[in-house]
Order: sequence, then structure tokens, then C-alpha cells
Amino acid sequence: MTGGVGYDETAAGPVAGGWKAGVNVPWTVSWTGEQHFDLGISRDFPGLVDLVQTEKVGEGAPRFRAMHVSRHRAGMARLLCHVCGRPTDKRDRYLFPVQSGGMAILPDERLRYAGNVPPVHKACARVAAGACPHLRGAGAEAVAWPVEASRLMPRTDVIPGMESLARTLPVNLRIVFSCYRLFGPKFSAMVGEMRRRAGVDI
Ligand SMILES: [Zn+2]
Repeated sequence: MTGGVGYDETAAGPVAGGWKAGVNVPWTVSWTGEQHFDLGISRDFPGLVDLVQTEKVGEGAPRFRAMHVSRHRAGMARLLCHVCGRPTDKRDRYLFPVQSGGMAILPDERLRYAGNVPPVHKACARVAAGACPHLRGAGAEAVAWPVEASRLMPRTDVIPGMESLARTLPVNLRIVFSCYRLFGPKFSAMVGEMRRRAGVDI
């Protein structure tokens, strides 16, 4: 998936014992048994409506390329770990800013790092760096979450792959499909430099 810490579903099959959320499947990944959606008043974005996804973690097979809409939003808003789903403490909160997200151009043309994956614990980052082909191939290193504030931003454009679902939703509502965090100028400058050195597109 674009910019995510996506485990490649075309790579290795399930290990002995199968797929298990929080072990070899990130908590934020959706499962085939969770493909039902509803709408609800947004808790994180006043005035907007959230796309809400049924929660049945572990039912069916993991869909590594698709984040679970509700868990992703909860992880981004409440800083829950992408891998295990538990809260992250500010002293144990990391991210992979070179391998996920992207640089956003603000209206005043300044560049800001826009992160689209929830944070990870240090220990969970190590698990992800070993288990995820995308991270392993890139030799990814987790970076400490900045002290500088970040701002949660909604995305009301349709997530690629959800076009047919979107056609069934009311057209007169601004529906939150996803969200991201816009990081501050200092962290953004550091990430921009890291991405340049790694040869990652801005
Ligand atoms: Zn964790």
C-alpha cells in the first residue's frame, strides 16, 4: 500500500499457526470478515461524519493492503500502536517517516511531513522491521516521535479501492475516509532531509 507499513500480502504465506493480529499482522490491518461499513458522527472531527467499519479482528484473512478505517483513525487520533493496538507513551513512541507518509505542500508553499500510519512502540518497531518486507527491504529505522506538536487532519476523499462503497453513501455529507498527522516545521525539515538522503520521492 502507498506509504503504509504494509506487509506485502503477495509475499510469504501465513507462518505455522496462521496469521495473528498484533503478532504477525499489525492491529491496524483489516480482515476479510470486517467488510461492513456504516456512518457515525465524528468524535475526532466535529461537524463531519466518520466512515465506521465493523470490528471483528482475526475473522477471515488479513487484508494487508487495506487499513481498517476505524482502527486506523483511533490509532492516529489517540496514538495507539499500529502493531499491537495498545496506547503509546510519549517516551516509547516511534514512526517510520521515510517508509510511510509523504511531504505535503502547505498553501504558503512550506513543506510539512504528513504521516499516515499510527505510531509504534520501540519493541513493536523492531518486530515490524523484521516481519514487514517493505521495511526489511529498505533497512528501515524507527525515528522517535517528535516533542513538537502534530495536528490530526481528516481526509474526505475516497480511499483507492473503496470507490464502489463510496457510491452507496449519501452525496451531501462530508465523510471522513481517513486521516493523517501534519507534523511541525522542525520535524518536517529533518524528515525531508532523511527522505532526500534515502532517495525517496518527496
Ligand atoms: Zn505496540
